[in-house]
Amino acid sequence: MCTKSLHWPYLDGQNLTALLLEIKDVNVHKYMATENFMAFSKKNIKSYNLDEFTARIVDLGLKKYRAGQVFEWIYKNHASSFEEMTNIAKSERALLANSFHLSCLKIIRTETSKDGTKKFLFELHDGHTIESVLIPDEDRLTLCISSQVGCQQACRFCLTAKGGFTRNLRSWEIADQVLAVSRLLKEEGERGITNIVLMGMGEPLANFDEVIRALRVITSGRGLDFSTRRVTLSTAGLVPFIDALGKSGVKVNLAVSLNASTDEVRDRVMPVNKRWPLRELLAACRRFPLEPRRRITFEYVMLKGVNDSAEDALRLAKLLKGIRCKVNLIPFNPFPGSAFERPEDAAVRRFQKILLDHRYIVPVRESRGRDISAACGQLREREAHGKETRDEERTTNDEGRETKDEE
Ligand code: SAH
Repeated sequence: MCTKSLHWPYLDGQNLTALLLEIKDVNVHKYMATENFMAFSKKNIKSYNLDEFTARIVDLGLKKYRAGQVFEWIYKNHASSFEEMTNIAKSERALLANSFHLSCLKIIRTETSKDGTKKFLFELHDGHTIESVLIPDEDRLTLCISSQVGCQQACRFCLTAKGGFTRNLRSWEIADQVLAVSRLLKEEGERGITNIVLMGMGEPLANFDEVIRALRVITSGRGLDFSTRRVTLSTAGLVPFIDALGKSGVKVNLAVSLNASTDEVRDRVMPVNKRWPLRELLAACRRFPLEPRRRITFEYVMLKGVNDSAEDALRLAKLLKGIRCKVNLIPFNPFPGSAFERPEDAAVRRFQKILLDHRYIVPVRESRGRDISAACGQLREREAHGKETRDEERTTNDEGRETKDEE
């Protein structure tokens, strides 16, 4: 029996006892003896929102306001144990520690690129690993986080797809990536994270409920308190879930990985297109309830000789007509064994110019941290003609000029 195939946190106390009696495997016994395992027989405090946790606190005989204090310790002060919560009486801290598990992601490896990009490898409780990438820029520090272990979408140009799909992340495993990195930055006296993008491993909309829960924690004033303007979810184009995201009330930015200008090519490079072809995808984008002064980002990974022609650019300009958007051009970032090539710079510039001539905002984004292979959609912005710029929160005024939002 393999311990890694069991999902311990989903067991309640009773099932646990039954399972202990059933299992004879020596390694499993060893694993169960660990503090880690015992912790998972309690419910993770991060699986509750503040209202739910308040109810649990009251059940335990504690004052209601303790719930807010505990949440502040966890999400504002990045506490990783109840011991750290020094404005709570020792006896109450002990009661909390006996009643709840406080999850923390273990950073097992970090790599720093020459360009300042930092990659974190986290180990999950069941031994699987995920990564996040921290991307510094002049006035922002963006953390790119994962939503699944692996991915089911099978995009042909994507490294994550090659490894297949293992499982969805729970909401706290998504938010814990932000917490773990924030905690580390604080310890090192560094500036904090300013932006979050769900562009790491996985398809966020294929793990809808947990991702929405995580986004609520990330954007709530009683959670990590990020402005929704500074959080972006990127999808391969799961149409019903784009609609559901629009209706969820979680007003984060939407990015859509388009990557082709015809169904024929998109079918080939992104199998999800066979289920929801371009017409349906773009209709969902047109009806998406965009906040004022926001745009949908269309990501377009440029693959040499596949989707980088002038005809593609013209078709794209036509397809996106009437959608308040910008187009991020991403020259393909090759990896060993990949079937595609990066286009020549001239082809990228030609493509960009055609879209610029059609009055689109068209930054070219380079993958950051190439020397540490942070290639999982960790992309840098390089604007027209090599000029560095940030336009995530730019918008266009009535005369068609760009202006910058407050944030
Ligand atoms: N599943 C989501 C988020 C993860 S991929 C999505 O599809 O949007 C994040 C971004 O990285 C996507 O825009 C994807 O097209 C891009 N990407 C994936 N592999 C790449 C590669 N090898 N080179 C350049 N961009 C890549």
